[in-house]
Amino acid sequence: MNLRAILHVDMDAFYASVEQHDFPQWRGLPLIVGGLGSRGVVATCSYEARRFGVHSALPMAAARRLCPQAILVKPRMARYAEVSRAVFALFNDATPLVEGLSLDEAFLDVTASQRLLGTPLAIAAKIKQRVREVTGLACSVGVSHNKWLAKLATELGKPDGLFEITEANRQTVLDPLSVGRLWTVGKVTAQKLEAAGYRRIVDLRLASASALARVVGNQHRLLQDLANGVDARPVIADREEKSMGAETTFSADLRALSEVRAWLLKLCEKVSERARRHGISGRVLTIKLRSPPFVTETRQCRWDEPANATQQLYATADRLLQVWWQGRADPALRLLGVSLAYLSAAPAPASWFGDALGQDQDRIADALNRRFGAGTLKRARSLSARED
Ligand SMILES: [Mg+2]
Repeated sequence: MNLRAILHVDMDAFYASVEQHDFPQWRGLPLIVGGLGSRGVVATCSYEARRFGVHSALPMAAARRLCPQAILVKPRMARYAEVSRAVFALFNDATPLVEGLSLDEAFLDVTASQRLLGTPLAIAAKIKQRVREVTGLACSVGVSHNKWLAKLATELGKPDGLFEITEANRQTVLDPLSVGRLWTVGKVTAQKLEAAGYRRIVDLRLASASALARVVGNQHRLLQDLANGVDARPVIADREEKSMGAETTFSADLRALSEVRAWLLKLCEKVSERARRHGISGRVLTIKLRSPPFVTETRQCRWDEPANATQQLYATADRLLQVWWQGRADPALRLLGVSLAYLSAAPAPASWFGDALGQDQDRIADALNRRFGAGTLKRARSLSARED
């Protein structure tokens, strides 16, 4: 089994810690960073203030009542961004695969760094040490083999934490936690689950799939995967492309709509197969159309839910193409492109139209193409599109 090595790093009480670092007279005291006006809310507070029940997003007036002696500070975003850049530079020393979640929080895929830098736990300890040396601040690091467990490990280790969830301790850690701790489970879902008798993660793990499906519908697969510590989402480096696309230039201008549609299907297959291979979905589909001599236009459609199924990409792209085509007296194309943007690593919901989307067909095609080389299984229509 080839397990990945994923770290989740989160600065402890970030804004408040920067203030206490820059102004030593505030160290060890309750301190609140946030809007000071009548409608202000708490952005971050020091651990000393948390003991009084103060927390992020609390209205400032309530925070003042809970802890009247707290030092109140207006955020200095430029300073926090400066510290953030220094911290992210340290992350990038450990691996190029850094996915920032906010100024002070990131996922790092250190799978390939191990030969050079040691075990994931050793890399995590080194990062903590370097962050403290360079910024004077504490962070918590969670170590595991996927994003869900790494982030959970950070939460369980805070503050100044260093905690690893391994194959060996995974179920011991997960089983007793309340279902509300699961990634994607919000208040409403947690209440639904608890009302149905699923209180702890172990209850979900041991539940029958059909019984759980009656409570949460299609989400039951995801929840049972998470309950078993399974999460395939990749770490997507910030410097990587935020859209993925494919385009082709024709040696002779295309003037037959049927031929253009065949190419469009081929491009949709290419983009969606790549998206699925990376476990990525996109929310916005764009087609690019270049007419002779050199007029480039784009047409775009935004879906309510991210998608990566070939059939859905093609249905949308085809509709955009048809409208463009019909609006022209003498349509001709020199270049055609398809791209998917607003990418997210979340899996596309399987619930949309059941298998009307052809997701089973996609899975079979992807598997065959992986095993026997790209292009083994293609939809019949795209076969009429020849590479030039
Ligand atoms: Mg933080």
